[in-house]
Amino acid sequence: MEARKTQSGKYVSIAIDGPSGAGKSSMAKRLGREFGFLHVDTGALYRAVGLAALRQGLAIDDREGVEALCGTLDVRAELSESGQRTVLNGEDVSSAIRVNEVSRWASAVSAFPGVRRFLLDTQRRTAETQNVIMDGRDIATVVLPDADLKIYLTASEESRAQRRWEELCGRGENVPLDQIRREIRARDEADMNRAVAPLRRHPDAVLVDTSWLTFDEGYALLKKTVSEGLDRVR
Ligand code: C5P
Repeated sequence: MEARKTQSGKYVSIAIDGPSGAGKSSMAKRLGREFGFLHVDTGALYRAVGLAALRQGLAIDDREGVEALCGTLDVRAELSESGQRTVLNGEDVSSAIRVNEVSRWASAVSAFPGVRRFLLDTQRRTAETQNVIMDGRDIATVVLPDADLKIYLTASEESRAQRRWEELCGRGENVPLDQIRREIRARDEADMNRAVAPLRRHPDAVLVDTSWLTFDEGYALLKKTVSEGLDRVR
């Protein structure tokens, strides 16, 4: 990894926020490889907590139960050859957290203040020791308000639903497109309107809208934005 630091000696951090299905994680993962930054997919951490609550048999709205459960969890984002490995109490749950049901649980548990507090430290500590590109919903607004470069990556609801549907089909999960559309809308609602750390575009965040672009076109636009942003940081 490139040991690039800012003139003040800090590691460089890039925050990418945006709604579900905008391509944040897959694009940030690729950017991380190209720029030599550690990519941290923070949604995966919330998914791991959601999976733990689901396995524990808790009710999806049991705030106290889920917050108490956090005290027993060890959730980590580890670096592997293929990118981030998400580890829950020593078990690699990188695939298990990707199923559609866990998306719903992740969204629900992420509204609980105790869950957000539990994951905040893990996220901040990661950025203190290396150059990171971190994606999520509240990275610029809460987790890394001093991030050197802030980006808000978005796309229309329709194109995000279409992409998520294709991704799930590709993994053999046959969920009707209409259901995905409803779920995306519900998650946007929940993420944007929750009391703690709602999804908001930070005033300094550069807007990157990929609605009408293919993945590769969207990635090229994002990469250009990051390159130009990093030139200003040095
Ligand atoms: O990004 P992804 O869809 O994997 O995130 C799963 C869920 O975790 C989201 O629906 C969102 O509610 C929550 N999340 C969050 N804050 C973050 C990252 C994800 O609340 N920084």
